[in-house]
Amino acid sequence: MLEARIFTLYPDFFPGYLGQGIFGKALSENKWKIDTVDIREYAFDKHKTVDDTPYGGGEGMLMKADVLAKSIDKNVKDGEKIIYLSPKGKLFNHQLAKQLSQEKTINIICGHFEGVDERLLKTRNIEEVSIGDFVLSGGEGASFVILDAILRFIPGILGNTNSAKDESFENGLLEYPQFTKPQIWEEKSVPDVLLSGDHAKIKDWRLSQSEAITRDRRPDLWQLYKKTKEN
Ligand code: SAH
Repeated sequence: MLEARIFTLYPDFFPGYLGQGIFGKALSENKWKIDTVDIREYAFDKHKTVDDTPYGGGEGMLMKADVLAKSIDKNVKDGEKIIYLSPKGKLFNHQLAKQLSQEKTINIICGHFEGVDERLLKTRNIEEVSIGDFVLSGGEGASFVILDAILRFIPGILGNTNSAKDESFENGLLEYPQFTKPQIWEEKSVPDVLLSGDHAKIKDWRLSQSEAITRDRRPDLWQLYKKTKEN
């Protein structure tokens, strides 16, 4: 069972939408677990200070290494994965989600203000992970994003175990277009091939659509796909 432990200044945000729908159901069936650690509880002074001004000057505040380290040391067991969500981190993707879904426990640190004291990251073996080239005001939103993607790989969480297999990125391509009833809608019919019942033909059509969409929209993925196909 995957356990997610979220280090946050806003424990009430959790489990948020992960407490609803398929994730909520799986949570109540103990297929995964989520705990929060309220970073502020580990502050050293009576004002519960968690941040301070950066050395060298500059805008904003930084989360203090000593407070964060105490919250980590009191909660994380040896060998557990620790992630700090950060725009400077390794870009999160499908493969990383799959890899993280193999962990027993994932500790996720949600930053705020201008981020955290760099010394924390080095001393506590923390991996920095980014969800994209933009800046959020806090790590909580990013933690929902990565957990959602990770949980989809936990057996028994997605209703249909096959539905993760056919999706975008699984084979290095974006998904082909999909259609449902009615067959004709606003005078547009669904592609004939999908009505043919010829499964081999449908498979070919879907692959060629996936390839075309990936080539058009994501030249980066397309180059990778071509390379793996050649090898
Ligand atoms: N000063 C930092 C940005 C801090 S944003 C910089 O320029 O790199 C405040 C917090 O939001 C960060 O500590 C991080 O936890 C979270 N955050 C912001 N953007 C993010 C992103 N793209 N991916 C993951 N977390 C992000």
